Amino acid sequence: MKLAICSGSFDPITNGHIDIIKRAAKMFDRLIVLVSVNYKKASTFTSGERVAMIERVLAELDLPNVSVDMYDGLLVNYAKQVGATALVRGLRAVTDFEYEFQMALTNKKLCGDVETIFLTTSSEYMFLSSSIVKQVVHFGGSITDFVPACIYEDIIKKLK
Ligand code: ADP
Repeated sequence: MKLAICSGSFDPITNGHIDIIKRAAKMFDRLIVLVSVNYKKASTFTSGERVAMIERVLAELDLPNVSVDMYDGLLVNYAKQVGATALVRGLRAVTDFEYEFQMALTNKKLCGDVETIFLTTSSEYMFLSSSIVKQVVHFGGSITDFVPACIYEDIIKKLK
């Protein structure tokens, strides 16, 4: 059984993340969406809130092989614990590349058995990030095209 992890801050999950999750779900027998810690970013939502939003989103999608979990340790340790062989990440633009490349090489050094796989963003989501969603809400714009309807209210409530 091929198991992969799609890790990220998901602060909050966006349609861009969902696109990557759906595509990765087709490539593996099982996929875990893992809410993890990025020490470069202060989070807006608690890990529990982020997991709850992802659970609601997944319940609406027909993806029986995808589940959600959270972890605040080393990603490769989690991968070893659950028996995952791949880490899936999305790439939007050159700006993502340096950080992603560094993380992929670090994870490879820490655990040679786990491969990082990059999926190129779909062009319609190239601009989309969790921080853009938060900025738009902050300045009173609409995020209906950026996040699923089932988590819209949670985001507005938290940021207003
Ligand atoms: P992290 O803080 O670990 O980078 P993010 O939640 O910001 O977590 O992103 C998780 C992954 O999803 C990253 O690989 C990121 O590049 C990717 N990602 C985020 N938004 C998009 C998008 N719009 N299209 C494709 N990939 C994306």
